Amino acid sequence: MAGRKKTFLCGHKGKGKYCHRCAQEERRKEATLKAKSDWVNRLRASPVELDHLPKEIAEKALIVIAELHKGKPYQDLRGKRMRTMGQREIISIPVGRRYRLICCNKNGSLDYIEVISHEDYNNRLTSGGWSV
Ligand SMILES: [Zn+2]
Repeated sequence: MAGRKKTFLCGHKGKGKYCHRCAQEERRKEATLKAKSDWVNRLRASPVELDHLPKEIAEKALIVIAELHKGKPYQDLRGKRMRTMGQREIISIPVGRRYRLICCNKNGSLDYIEVISHEDYNNRLTSGGWSV
């Protein structure tokens, strides 16, 4: 009888030809999986390693990198040359409050070296900086 509630194989009760609860759950799972694989692909496409970072920091780093790609000057992203450290090819760009994107600007082209926490950044500085 149409409109009558029945018990589906999954054990849920409902109306219709199939269980809408399970169908919805299935769609939700697929969306989560897709979001996850999209994110993995974005990380993989990144010119610098981001896997070790918290997701929000990796997201921010990707935004900074995208801006640089579009031709935005690093100065506009609060990036600084490490001139006083004797490393004028090295540029440090803040990513969030506790991280930095380290780039190398040699012969006019920008290479991404790493994204590191503020602590790692300080450790690098005290141990002589980055080799370029
Ligand atoms: Zn079900």
